[in-house]
Amino acid sequence: MTRYADFHRRSIADPDAFWAEQARLIDWQTPFTRVCDYDEPPFARWFVGGRTNLCHNAVDRHLEARGDQAALIFVSTETQQERVYSFRELHAEVQRMAAILLELGVKKGDRVLVYMPMIPEAAFAMLACTRIGALHSVVFGGFASVSLASRIDDAEPAVVVSADAGSRGGKVVAYKPLLDEAIQIAAHKPARVLMVDRGLAAFSRVEGRDADYAALRARHLDAGVPCEWVESTHPSYTLYTSGTTGRPKGVQRDTGGYAVALAASMKHIFCGNPGETYFSTSDIGWVVGHSYIVYGPLIAGMATIMYEGLPIRPDAAVWWSLVEKYKVTVMFSAPTAVRVLKKQDPAALSKHDLSSLRALFLAGEPLDEPTAKWIAESLGKPIIDNYWQTETGWPILTICNGVEKAPSKFGSPGKAVYGYDVKLLDEQTGEELAEPNRKGVVVIEGPLPPGCMQTVWRDDARFVNTYWKSVPGRMVYSTFDWGIRDEDGYFFILGRTDDVINVAGHRLGTREIEESISSHPNVAEVAVVGVADTLKGQVAMAFAVLKDPSRAATPEAALKLEGEIMKVVDEQLGAVARPARVRFVGVLPKTRSGKLLRRAIQAVCESRDPGDLTTIEDPTALQQIKDLVAPPA
Ligand code: AMP
Repeated sequence: MTRYADFHRRSIADPDAFWAEQARLIDWQTPFTRVCDYDEPPFARWFVGGRTNLCHNAVDRHLEARGDQAALIFVSTETQQERVYSFRELHAEVQRMAAILLELGVKKGDRVLVYMPMIPEAAFAMLACTRIGALHSVVFGGFASVSLASRIDDAEPAVVVSADAGSRGGKVVAYKPLLDEAIQIAAHKPARVLMVDRGLAAFSRVEGRDADYAALRARHLDAGVPCEWVESTHPSYTLYTSGTTGRPKGVQRDTGGYAVALAASMKHIFCGNPGETYFSTSDIGWVVGHSYIVYGPLIAGMATIMYEGLPIRPDAAVWWSLVEKYKVTVMFSAPTAVRVLKKQDPAALSKHDLSSLRALFLAGEPLDEPTAKWIAESLGKPIIDNYWQTETGWPILTICNGVEKAPSKFGSPGKAVYGYDVKLLDEQTGEELAEPNRKGVVVIEGPLPPGCMQTVWRDDARFVNTYWKSVPGRMVYSTFDWGIRDEDGYFFILGRTDDVINVAGHRLGTREIEESISSHPNVAEVAVVGVADTLKGQVAMAFAVLKDPSRAATPEAALKLEGEIMKVVDEQLGAVARPARVRFVGVLPKTRSGKLLRRAIQAVCESRDPGDLTTIEDPTALQQIKDLVAPPA
């Protein structure tokens, strides 16, 4: 048995011993008395009885050994700002932010919604929350008012932390009007809004509700706010993610399990060492930003780069210039970003000294072979694909080079990561597919390892019903992904089993987009599917039935209406959710019982065989779509 195989086997055969050992990677204020309580499956409670604090592990505990070393490196190619915060400076800023939140009335267990661009104050806010035992709920800055409102209503935050604006490609994107509109739509009204004013966009203030960050910070310059030692199982944050139904789910994470999982992943997967620099190009609004911009690198005593800007502005070498300047050793990005770079000047990669870089990790969407080969050859460094989800918080499948160096296989994120008992189930029979090279649903045998979601925020029933299946004697967690495992134990991910699509590494629920499009007064019915795209992996395609088809009678009129509908999606959900096209049809393909034939629509859009259509109500419906996407010659 190889060293890694043994490591993985131990993590599954004796999880208590395995994770007790990993738990030594972090500081505990009170030691735990039980490693894993799985008395009530599928709810796993990790490191029961232990007390710790995420912010302490990310910041305070490094003060003695590396207080003056870089902790947070902020680079904005949008506002031309660059600022390095040492651990000591970060400690001071986080305490100031914590003092402000306390002054605004935030208490342990309260939620603080963070709706921010990629600026240091966003990280201060997250760390300040976990410092005082409040839960942050970061909403991606690209989401608009309706998306934001639904998250405000679910999280019921005491305070919202926001900023006047972000900037993208040199264009200012105002946040405050969207936030004000979201609060107006939402039933829950946050008591206070803390505004970071970057001086990018003028905004109106609501008297008595809106507070100014700079003014409050000036009053708390010397703030000393101690860490609140919380139970290991105390929730640290919620993060919303899309699924089959329109309503996003609040993924709830614990404290101790998450800290241990991240610390272990920094050692065994990312191989990052204290004093080095980590560069993740994600956004704090996504799970990668939580785990591998903010918490993971800092817990490991690394400096972390927070980058606001595009990968190709001022030129396609900007990321590599940062690798050189800050001697980045570990980098994390998404295949889409690599595909964007690939279309640019190939010389960009040879302009800078990249000798510090050990590996580039890619995740969030399938890594296609041409992209993987191009970046591997251009960089001359290992490219490490890793597969996981918002729900798990850290990789499920990858190569754990920190345990034992192993080769990658193109098209595969790798093997099951320690702690994860990954299996494939037959979709029809629910039986395990033990033999290699059979396609099945990727599942994880309970309990989920430390760091994974505890539950759906305030909805245990939804957690159980959405993700878990009872198999006699045990429970398994569904990833909602199709997969195959080869004879060497390498998995290949073949796409989602549900209605979730993945646009440029951003996970979107097609139902959410459909609901938004349906709110247009002329839309009677709509189907949204994900269609393969060479740059973004997938794009959303919408097919709508109009109440008054005469409004799309000419190509010009149809185009105008399409623009109107896209604007509705932009305003409600944000440009990330905007479909690539909205096409108009007379009828949608459905089964006789009224179920939309999404897989058939998707197949037709991708010029594939739509499969068995014996249950289709009106065969001309699919033909209409075919004619639109591939008009007859
Ligand atoms: P998110 O929760 O936004 O991180 O999206 C998780 C989903 O993205 C997974 O369920 C997969 O469908 C997809 N995904 C993430 N990483 C990979 C990867 N390395 N290869 C293939 N698909 C991936």
